[in-house]
This record gives sequence, C-alpha cells and structure tokens, in this order.
Amino acid sequence: MAKTAVCFTLSLGACALLWSVPTWAQSKPAADLIITDAKIWTADKSMPWAQAVAVLGDRIVAVGSSSDIDAWRGPNTHVIDAAGKLLLPGFNDAHVHLVSGGKQLDNVQLNDATTPEEFARRIDERAKITPKGEWILGGNWDETKWSPPNIPTKAVIDALTPDTPVFVSRYDGHMGLANSLALRLAGITAKTPDPPGGTIVRDAQGNPTGALKDAATDYIYKVIPPLSHDQRLKIVKRALAYAASVGVTSVQHMVADYEDIAVYRELLERGELTLRIYVAPSIVQVEDQAKLGIGHAFGGPYLRIGALKAFADGSLGSGTAYFYQPFLNQGNNRGLLSDEMHPISLMRDRYMKADAAGLQICTHAIGDEGISTILDLYADVIKAHGEADRRFRIEHAQHMAAKDFERFAQLHVIASVQPYHAIDDGRFAESHIGHDRASRTYAFRTFLDHGVRLAFGTDWEVAPLDPLLTLYAAVTRATLDGKNPSGWFPEQKLSVAEAVGAYTMGSAYAEFQENEKGSITAGKLADMVLVSDDIFSIAPEKIRDVQVLKTLVGGRLVFDRSAAANGKSQN
Ligand SMILES: [Zn+2]
Repeated sequence: MAKTAVCFTLSLGACALLWSVPTWAQSKPAADLIITDAKIWTADKSMPWAQAVAVLGDRIVAVGSSSDIDAWRGPNTHVIDAAGKLLLPGFNDAHVHLVSGGKQLDNVQLNDATTPEEFARRIDERAKITPKGEWILGGNWDETKWSPPNIPTKAVIDALTPDTPVFVSRYDGHMGLANSLALRLAGITAKTPDPPGGTIVRDAQGNPTGALKDAATDYIYKVIPPLSHDQRLKIVKRALAYAASVGVTSVQHMVADYEDIAVYRELLERGELTLRIYVAPSIVQVEDQAKLGIGHAFGGPYLRIGALKAFADGSLGSGTAYFYQPFLNQGNNRGLLSDEMHPISLMRDRYMKADAAGLQICTHAIGDEGISTILDLYADVIKAHGEADRRFRIEHAQHMAAKDFERFAQLHVIASVQPYHAIDDGRFAESHIGHDRASRTYAFRTFLDHGVRLAFGTDWEVAPLDPLLTLYAAVTRATLDGKNPSGWFPEQKLSVAEAVGAYTMGSAYAEFQENEKGSITAGKLADMVLVSDDIFSIAPEKIRDVQVLKTLVGGRLVFDRSAAANGKSQN
C-alpha cells in the first residue's frame, strides 16, 4: 500500500481520506467491522482524535471520520454505532500476577475487613465450607484499616481452624499470616532461623506469631500442594473473562510459572485466549530461556516469552523495601534486600546471562537504595556488553533517590509503575519514611520531566485490575482514606492523556510491541475499549465510576456490557 510517501506531505485528515479514494474501493475488501460515530482517542500522536475505525481480520485498516470509514462498509460488515461514546486503545497492564489474580476472585476476601474480629469471622465462614485439609489462601488483608493497626497473629484464628491450614496474605504480597496447623506442616518452630531476606515474626518468648515476611513465606509455599492443570485452567479462564470485563486486552505476567504458560498455550490452540500475554518467569530460571536462544518478546500476537522477573527488595508497608536511611519509628530497620541479592554478585551474574541471551530484565525495586543498586547493576551490564535496545525495566520504582531520576533516563530504564499503589500507600507513606522521601514517591511527573518512559499496570492481585481506578489514581492522586482530595503530592499528577498513553503505548513499548499495538492506528491489532463516559471531559474524581461497555481484542468482541447480566464489580 503506497500511502506512506503521500502521508508525509499531506495533512493528516487528507491522509486518512486516501484510504477511501474510489480507485482503492474497487480493489480493497470490505471491512469485517466498523465502529462509527465514536469519540476516539487514538494514542497516536499523528492523529490523536478520530470518529470511526475499520477492522479487517484482526487488524485496524483505517481510522478517520465516520464518512471516511463508511467507504469500508460492505454487505457483511458488522457495524457498531458507538453513539458518541469514547473509544480507547485496549489497556495493557504491564505488571500482573494473572493466576494469583484469578485465584483471588474465588478466595476468601479480607481486604475490606475493617476489624480483626471481622477478619476472623470471614476466615471462620470460609473454614466451614472448606473440605478438611484443604488450604485457605489469599485474602489481601490490610491491618492499616484497623485500630490499632496491629499485624494479626495466629491466636485470632487458631480456634476456628483446627483442621484447616491457613495462610492468608497481606495485600502487598510481602507478608502472610499462618495458623498453627500451617506452621506445623511447614515445620516452623521457635528454633527455625530467619532465612536470608525474610523474617519469622516472634513474640516476646521467641515463639512464631504466625506472621511471616518475604523469604520466610517460602517455608509455607513449599508445603502448599501445587495447582492441578485443570484447576489452573479454570482459574485462568475466569481471569480472562474478568480482564475483558474491565477493558484489559494485554497483560504482562510477572513471575509466571511454567505451568501457567502451558495453560495459556492450550487456550491459545483452542482459540480461547482473549487476552494477549507476555510472560516473565523468575530470573532464578534464567538458564532455561537462555538455552533456547529465543530473546525478548519471542512468540505471536497472543503469547510471548523472553522476559525475566527479578526481585531487589520487599515493600513499603511490610517495612522490607530497602532504603539508605531507616524507616521512621522502626529502630534501625532500613528494609531487606531479597534473597536473589544475597550476594549482589549473584544477581549481576544472572543479569549478564540474561542479557547475553537477549532476554529482557524486569526488576522489582521499591526502596531508594534497592532502586539505586539495580541501576548500578544495569549500568554494569551496559558497560560489559555495550549499548543496545534492551528496555531494562524497574517494576514499581516507588521511592526514588533524587540523584537517580537522571540515571534512570540515561540508562533508558522503563519505570513500570502502578498508580493505584500511590493512593493506597499515600495513606501511610509519610509516617513510614517522612516528608522528604515521600516527595519522591510515585513521582510520575518527575519521571516524565526527565524523559523516562512510563508503563502503567496494577500488580493485580495486589491491587484491583480495573484500569479506570488506575487512571483515577494517576490523575487525582486522591488517597483512599479521603484525606487528600486535591491530591497527595499533587505536583506529580498526570493528565488523562498522559495516563492513558502510559497504559497503552507506554506498556506496549515496555514489551517491545509499540509497532503492533498500543494505539488505534491503521495496521495495528484491533484491540479497543468503548467506555461509558468521556474521561477527558468529566470531573477527574468521576473517572473511577466509568464503566467499560465493550472490549475488542483483535476485532473480536470479548466483552459486551449490554449482554452481560451483572454490573461493575470491583475486585
Ligand atoms: Zn508484582
């Protein structure tokens, strides 16, 4: 198609028209699908706004005015009249735990339990319907919603769960509470030492309280029976349906198990994969992907591998993010480097191996020294192997040292961030780390000012998968406790266009797919979301109430609210 040369010299509107000149019409096929009378924000800087889009097969073939696109209409073209609603590129969540998220849809829900009594009541209720010996997992409890905000102990649930092993997670995934049966199954006693990068919380007598931090949770995870293939398949199908219902068309699955990949492949073969997935297994397994010689983003439009997920440190809420200076009111505690960083040369060696094999590296780093240390290691890799388009990522990039924004940009590191965490952690971050450090926390504006690329995601199941909540968070920075209605560090707010851009083009770039998806552009995959309200013009605080009406992946309608019975459910 010889439109390119002309497009550079004509105005953009004229360019779109070229797709519908009569000489073309004789040879070009009719579109399979037309979405017309929409308000389209394309995320394509060459033509940010349009009215209509034509789809042929799984790709967008034309974008323009409703009358331009009408020329693509044939007798069998399916037409969606958007009635003036806003159409966006599909959301690409750059950081999810898809199977844990899917599991969470079925697990006991503890996140909105506002007292330890309610927490215990829900576990009791669940234990009554759980077959003997089967585990109660998940939960996402959040003790900061309790007063006083004390970490729960096994004493709260032991009497309710004599025959049911319980290991319920804190919402940040860096701590969990085990009951006595679970501790017994895992062999954890007063004599068990803290593992590197982990803590067994103990009472005054030195006995485990049931709370386990970071690497200490592995004692428990080792004894939980693995999911069967069929269980996993069921969980993933549920996650796919949920993702479609909230407008997520691509995800990047961090720390995926190989068994997850097998399930994705099976669904792909059956034509049932309705979400595009980029898989990043643990860097601990770097040898496997390195041996294959595949490099980053290897695969097809629905399923790619070639990335690795590493851990530098823990989280803010659990007191395990790794800082230069101690947390406030926690003695000398300045966090923990993860077990993958003991010693740091172990991580460097794995990075070198991964990079030599052309694999992409995504590293969880939250505290300022954790982030800084990873930037050092990234710089070591570049020094050893030379400049290349590697798209190193730091996942979360929460608490930045002032000196590191510039370095982030120089090393071309992508900040893969989750704005919902900002309005969640914003409730307590200053009490943990003080005003100065908090001012460089979730510093999205400062990143953009330094020319750092942002990719947006949620960290589901840690935070809700719903992209409208994430956009709301990035645009308002209004903390969940209602105490910062005009924004927590409001100078870091983003515009709606910047936020949607980070969630679409930004995330696509973070997985080397910016030429395939991320904008509503002719030639790209037809992944699009129709929403109930125009987020560019409504009051920002209303963005969280906006509903997804239709979700299309590769031109296929994978969610249609008018056909779905239930209203919006927020996980
Ligand atoms: Zn995560």
